Amino acid sequence: NAPKDADLKWKKAPCRFCGVGCGVLIGLQKGKAVAVKGDPKSSVNKGLCCVKGYHSVLAIYGKDRLTKPLVKKNGKMVETSMKEALDLIASKMQQTIKDHGKDAVSMYGSGQWTIPDGYAASKFMKGAIGTNNLEANARLCMASAVTGFMTSFGIDEPMGCYEDIDHADVFILWGNNMAEMHPVLFSRLLDQRMKRKVKIIDFATRTTRTSMAADRSIIFEPQTDLAVANAICYEIIDKGWVNKEFVKKHISFSKGKTKMGYGTEDFYKFKEHEEKIDFNAYKEFLKEYTPEKVARYSGVSVKDIRLMANIYGDPNQKVMSFWCMGMNQHTRGTWINNLVYNIHLLTGKISTPGNSPFSLTGQPSACGTVREVGTLTHKLPHGVVTNKEHREFAAKIWKVPVENIPAKPTYHTVEMFRALDRGDIKFMWIQVTNPMVTMPNLNRYREGCEKTGRFIVVSDIYPTPTTDVADVILPSAMWIEREGLFGNSERRTQYFEKMIDAPGEAISDSWQIIEVARRMGYGDLFPKNEATHAAELYEEYRLHQAGKKHGMAPLEVLKNQPGAMWPFVDGKSTKWRFNTAYDPACDNSKGRFHFYGKKDGKAVIWQRPYEPAAESPDKEYNYWLCTGRVIEHWHTGSMTRRIDVLHQAVPHSYVEVNPDDAKRLNIREGDKVKITSKRGTMTLPASVNGRGVPVKGQVFVPFFDEGYLINDVTLDAFDPISKQPDYKKCAVKIEKV
Ligand code: SF4
Repeated sequence: NAPKDADLKWKKAPCRFCGVGCGVLIGLQKGKAVAVKGDPKSSVNKGLCCVKGYHSVLAIYGKDRLTKPLVKKNGKMVETSMKEALDLIASKMQQTIKDHGKDAVSMYGSGQWTIPDGYAASKFMKGAIGTNNLEANARLCMASAVTGFMTSFGIDEPMGCYEDIDHADVFILWGNNMAEMHPVLFSRLLDQRMKRKVKIIDFATRTTRTSMAADRSIIFEPQTDLAVANAICYEIIDKGWVNKEFVKKHISFSKGKTKMGYGTEDFYKFKEHEEKIDFNAYKEFLKEYTPEKVARYSGVSVKDIRLMANIYGDPNQKVMSFWCMGMNQHTRGTWINNLVYNIHLLTGKISTPGNSPFSLTGQPSACGTVREVGTLTHKLPHGVVTNKEHREFAAKIWKVPVENIPAKPTYHTVEMFRALDRGDIKFMWIQVTNPMVTMPNLNRYREGCEKTGRFIVVSDIYPTPTTDVADVILPSAMWIEREGLFGNSERRTQYFEKMIDAPGEAISDSWQIIEVARRMGYGDLFPKNEATHAAELYEEYRLHQAGKKHGMAPLEVLKNQPGAMWPFVDGKSTKWRFNTAYDPACDNSKGRFHFYGKKDGKAVIWQRPYEPAAESPDKEYNYWLCTGRVIEHWHTGSMTRRIDVLHQAVPHSYVEVNPDDAKRLNIREGDKVKITSKRGTMTLPASVNGRGVPVKGQVFVPFFDEGYLINDVTLDAFDPISKQPDYKKCAVKIEKV
């Protein structure tokens, strides 16, 4: 019964799922979305889609879609009207603020928020109510990428773009299973390999589909990426491969002098105090990281360290480095981001076509909504709350007194859930995300949500373990059921119009916020018309970029093309930032490059040591546990498990065990294996000959399945600078059940 192409009306949108941000065409028929194909006009995917993208519209039509608000009465969730639900949320927020203060209410959103959703949330919480208790799940997936950019360059997001793939000679993937997580980009790499014989090097802690397709797979011991990156820098200097002219003109050297321990004042600052050093001090520091010394504990041979150094050091090869969760979900995520930049900066392989350190994101608008709008406790739209001028600028646009916006950040994500557990936060509104699957050390935070005296509102499209802890559930309009914009990993902002009606009483997350704001007396601050509110919010958001070097394209431009990359200047996207040949924001007098995020215009090479993981295997808990994703399912699977074809492909989670370990423990394919850490336990079927092969002493579990909540086992230790947890490393024991 496949619909015929000619019978369909096709409209463009960015894909609903990952941060690659493929342009898709949605086939519409009789008020329903019935087909998807890649948009051949999109420079992101050039007409391609992955398996999730092709089936994405089916996520709209799951049988158990939430269509009516639900409220808890006598311990049971019962249907109610939207009016009653919104009245209740507004009165609960007001009462909580009256009884316990503004910081007793909080909002937790996501990189799946559209840009207008995130902007409405920021204005509502920070401008209207006056609390910085706003966070988003992107804290769990890319906060270290942000602090990496900020410390090295003073400005967030990649300097290059996907077009770099067409120019690079070698791709080095740092802990990034790109074949499954960013499949369309990976297919562009494979395409280049067929055309130009480029090389792909996979540097990871386990064998994945990416390493199987790579020209070389280099496996390292968990956490030793810090040491290997330093060893590469040592080798580049030792062999004389430093781009001396670039370094002299455009680089400064630093080390951190912040006490980043939990409970110290610096811990809450979200940035690090720098201490300038010189090149000789940096060179001296690297003596601890000779390839021979690092090979002893990293599991990487001297030959492989030299191979990578040689690739980066060769002036005739253009190199792209890609990374994602393997480096960001790391107790030293900021440091490892800095270390990859160090390599590119020492060799001058940056901000030119094909030379690009490239941090990828997982959600469709983690960049657009969370990083750019700034839906994090310390952020304002294009500013930070700690800066008086930024607060004044935002307050003027928001038409609120500047005193409304608190000057201090409050809680980052893990701490926000701890505050809920302690009772410092009494009210939490969660939109478009599923923390009762994704929080690390989940047992602890689930208990907090279930405590008496907490009031939880959850806006989503399907029931999830998070709606299980809600006092009110609001049905949300999804993706093309409302107008919106997403921002992808290459600074590309993409627009989509409303194409179909949302089911039942479902409305957009931004309109839910506006309706509650109106009931609390803040109606004058927000648009009045539901049909046009998203467009109005986006254009108001653009006012925050006035006079800045990173403005986005107007809505009218975005309506007519497959996205535009900021800085959008004189009607043109900027492909490579910090290079005077491409970036109009650069000051030409500074030379060929100008890293204008830093006051002196110079990017920073940081001295970053190796530091062991927060928890490592010992005699009792003698395995490493790593968690992650699979291509068929998107994050917690709340949408993709409702798509039959994807659900049937991977119907449940599993634990990947190394074949030698499995043999020793008498574990066969499909046997039940119990994984235990100091925090919790989970029993899953074993995968011994599956798509991924952990090295001996490690196990891997995908987290998409709410039937197997592996985060009951994981550790909630986090990077002290970015506050991003490490989901890739904790100690567990395993036994056959
Ligand atoms: Fe969608 Fe990502 Fe797949 Fe592209 S690669 S189709 S954005 S899920």
